[in-house]
Amino acid sequence: APQAPPAATGPRTLEVGASGFIGRFVAEASLSSGHPTYVLVRSSATTSSSKASTIKSLEDQGAILVTGSIGDKEVMIEILRKYEIEVVISAVGGATILDQLTLAEAIKAVGSIKRFLPSEFGHDIDRAEPVEPGLTMYMEKRKVRRFIEEAAIPYTYICCNSIAAWPYHDNTHPADVLPPLDRFHIYGDGSVKAYFVAGTDIGKFTIETINDDRTVNKSLHFRPPSNLVSINELASLWEKKIGRTLPRVTVEEDDLLAAAAEMCIPESIVASFTHDIFIKGCQVNFSLDKPTDLEATSLYPEMQFRTIDECFDEFVEKIMGGQAAAEKAAGKEGIVVPASAPDALVITATCA
Ligand code: NDP
Repeated sequence: APQAPPAATGPRTLEVGASGFIGRFVAEASLSSGHPTYVLVRSSATTSSSKASTIKSLEDQGAILVTGSIGDKEVMIEILRKYEIEVVISAVGGATILDQLTLAEAIKAVGSIKRFLPSEFGHDIDRAEPVEPGLTMYMEKRKVRRFIEEAAIPYTYICCNSIAAWPYHDNTHPADVLPPLDRFHIYGDGSVKAYFVAGTDIGKFTIETINDDRTVNKSLHFRPPSNLVSINELASLWEKKIGRTLPRVTVEEDDLLAAAAEMCIPESIVASFTHDIFIKGCQVNFSLDKPTDLEATSLYPEMQFRTIDECFDEFVEKIMGGQAAAEKAAGKEGIVVPASAPDALVITATCA
């Protein structure tokens, strides 16, 4: 006879934005840790087939779907009460950060939520000061933080740094895209380091905090030493994986500033963060010296982060699953792609 799934244990958790890029990792980690996992879906979510299939997959893994939007305070109060939600984790995207103020009002009104994790999942937005338009998003995230703190809602801020992938300066979800196979764009002199963390680890360590009293009203910074690399090192790692070298094209600081100044949303936001990370060093230019700072590898020494090397192996597997497998079968060495000359980087203003 088929075995019944193990009884859910741990806090009753509401995931907001689970159909999104980061939110899916968090919802899956919540489900695999066995927490009763409620997933908020907007009724419009079914319009995109990839989102619908994400939601379906979460449901198959045991998620309980709840219909609503965080912009509707009364509905959110009803949901929080009805399902006796203890933890709310939001991973809404950059365009709807301020909608979380209404969600926070609902959490405040209900009064029984033990932890709220607002949509952060990046840098310490109280410390980093990117150029516009990234700054506007940080100001919105700051507004949400201040509301939570003033309302005395117990919180944890997840500062997980970059997702493990090639950091394209115009792509909001770089982990969906393979690292380059034609040429590298190297930002500045390519020596500034950043932390590249696997999406699954962003989910896993986020979920670890919600049952941990040490993380109440703290910021958790992800600084695994095995994931701290410069873009030059990242390029060399990828070259090792694919068995060939690629041309390196320098993207100067001014090029990134120009891409940011175009005010294309969201590409210009990504350009401003790219500038902040790889020119200004916003992930590494401060020490964790506030009483509210915690660091993930020190807090959870028994838990492993996937290394950047392992993450890049996954990209190779993706390629090997495709066309390169045939080339390999034909006896060619390494991953062979058509050679292409490095183009000069052209950034044209199309959105200003
Ligand atoms: P996405 O745009 O991929 O997903 C946003 C999700 O939020 C969707 O599931 C969407 O639902 C949901 N949502 C939006 N508004 C509402 C609402 N009013 N009510 C209910 N659900 C809503 O977001 P990202 O994953 O790109 O971003 C999430 C966070 O992660 C952001 O804070 C972002 O800055 C950060 N981030 C960090 C990265 C890193 O490398 N560290 C990379 C990318 C993002 P629906 O399906 O209905 O649209």
